[in-house]
Amino acid sequence: MNFDIEKIRKDFPILGQQVYGKPYIYFDSAATAHRPVQVMKAVEQIYYEFNGNPHRGAHYMSNKTTVEFEAVRDKVQKYINAANREEIIFTKGTTESINLVAYSFGEAFVNEGDEIIVTEMEHHANIVPWQMLATRKKAVLKVIPISDKGELLLDELPKLISERTKLISVALVSNVLGTVNPVQQIIEIAHQRNIPVLIDAAQCAAHIKIDVQKLDCDFLAFSGHKIYGPTGVGCLYGKKELLDKMPPFLGGGEMIEQVSFKGTTFNQLPYKFEAGTPNFTEVIGMGAAIDYINEIGLDEISAYEHQLLEYATEQLKTIPEMRIIGEAENKTSVISFLVGNIHPYDMGMFLDKLGFAVRTGHHCAQPLMERYQIPGTVRVSFAIYNTTEEIDLFVAAVKRVATLF
Ligand code: PMP
Repeated sequence: MNFDIEKIRKDFPILGQQVYGKPYIYFDSAATAHRPVQVMKAVEQIYYEFNGNPHRGAHYMSNKTTVEFEAVRDKVQKYINAANREEIIFTKGTTESINLVAYSFGEAFVNEGDEIIVTEMEHHANIVPWQMLATRKKAVLKVIPISDKGELLLDELPKLISERTKLISVALVSNVLGTVNPVQQIIEIAHQRNIPVLIDAAQCAAHIKIDVQKLDCDFLAFSGHKIYGPTGVGCLYGKKELLDKMPPFLGGGEMIEQVSFKGTTFNQLPYKFEAGTPNFTEVIGMGAAIDYINEIGLDEISAYEHQLLEYATEQLKTIPEMRIIGEAENKTSVISFLVGNIHPYDMGMFLDKLGFAVRTGHHCAQPLMERYQIPGTVRVSFAIYNTTEEIDLFVAAVKRVATLF
């Protein structure tokens, strides 16, 4: 495999840290990934060399920033294979992208009695905006249930769809279970009835190749900080014909064509949805992150991370009373687990003191915790910089913590 882990680890200097005098082992990339030096340098370069408000100034640095900023739109377009660059909207992240659609699509297309469908395994970011829309419009939120293994019960979908279904919104990968959902099938079922589909790609954008034209999804959202880029930035992809029909989400500078107290007209795509000064520094940093991923290759990344997933699953299963939550056939490198009756917070606290960064709790997916009747899980998530040696140390640490209880 053409995957140079030694070289990759050198790109992430933070991994060389110690915490509590122990080597720092980071298994929380599903929450936020670390940034390689290439991304940090790109961000630093803006502050040192060409800071200027894009699209606005008639001066050298503003023009330079505009060129760099717009070049990232082209990179994102290519990264997810969108047909048009105007279909790429920069947002604060997945959460804002989904809220934009819930508000704006909701204003244009959702009325009293209409229905939106999500799944039982969604992150709160893909539940609450729809609930808020449902309250605003007196609409109804329906839920696709899951099996004990953590797979969608897809047979239930046609039963949930009705004449009133306006949109289906589903995560491509669950942030808790690691399940890769059959979104292609969902989109085909939805499109037979002309129902648009939003894909929450927060947990897959750095791990699996996305092709929005092949998927034929109508919207897709992801965050920069989960793809080795900066915080405070992300993307919304939307099909032009839908975005054109949707009203703006936020009002302000840049999103207008003409403003007068008699009335205001709005800008073209994508600017109609980019009110105010964008997070241009972070957008440009996200562009460097995309370059970084492309240089390694998403196929290589997926294959390497899959090895980590299989190895870790196998090793974790050697621990007595280990219960893995989420055993779907098709998974990415996210593993949620519980050991015996040990509370996930207790496990997490001990692991932290041993140098391991894991996530514990409900992972912003309380309905899923309710489904499994558990208070939360311990979650490990792997990225390009993790190794099987780290997994060995982790498994030994979990065994050690388990013996304390
Ligand atoms: N959806 C999923 C599946 C996620 O994992 C997350 C982040 N944990 C989000 C949405 C929200 O992403 P952000 O906080 O970057 O907006």
